Amino acid sequence: MKIHEDIIKCRICPRLVQFREKVAKEKRKQYIDEKYWGKPVTGFGDIKANIVIVGLAPAAHGGNRTGRVFTGDRSAEFLYRCLHKKGVSNLSNSLNVNDGLQLKNTYITTALKCVPPGDKPTTKELFNCFNYFDAELDTLKDSKKIIALGKIAFDACIKYYKNKFPDIDLKHSFKHSEYFKMPDNKILYGCYHPSPRNVNTGRIDEKKMIKFLDLVYS
Ligand code: SF4
Repeated sequence: MKIHEDIIKCRICPRLVQFREKVAKEKRKQYIDEKYWGKPVTGFGDIKANIVIVGLAPAAHGGNRTGRVFTGDRSAEFLYRCLHKKGVSNLSNSLNVNDGLQLKNTYITTALKCVPPGDKPTTKELFNCFNYFDAELDTLKDSKKIIALGKIAFDACIKYYKNKFPDIDLKHSFKHSEYFKMPDNKILYGCYHPSPRNVNTGRIDEKKMIKFLDLVYS
């Protein structure tokens, strides 16, 4: 994808550039011998997919380390265990860019392409990165269903549609397992983000996630 080349080179947000590079330099002890990616992270998967999964942003020692979205962290571990059970991925975890992972009829990306401190991007950073997200979604011409993992991802998808269809009043808000028909007939689903916090508190568990995936992949 041409847009991926532009994303990888981006240095628009000073705070995020500084943070992603600091994390990549300091590293986590267990990954001390690895070379961190430390750059923006693009989407991954089948660009002809019918289903698009949208997360928030790469994780500090996940995507920002490995260079692939939802790779090498606990969110990935949970998500891919569920996707594998549904037959969507060939592997039950996403460990690194050389692991041979393949997605069936699915593309995964994030609303923000750089890791934000504390997983909390500013409004300006989301605004800066929106053009990339917008261009990426435009490229996925065969997509029919979009899963937004969490409120920030959901709101980025709503913004995408508001920009494309300014005359339509879209007032949908994020709710797990709720879905809405968008003006182009695609379906937007809300789903709790598979973050360790949501998994540890039981907000989302494997049973709930599989039930949700059954709904989308039916
Ligand atoms: S978050 Fe997006 S706009 Fe900001 S530096 Fe990263 S890629 Fe560029």
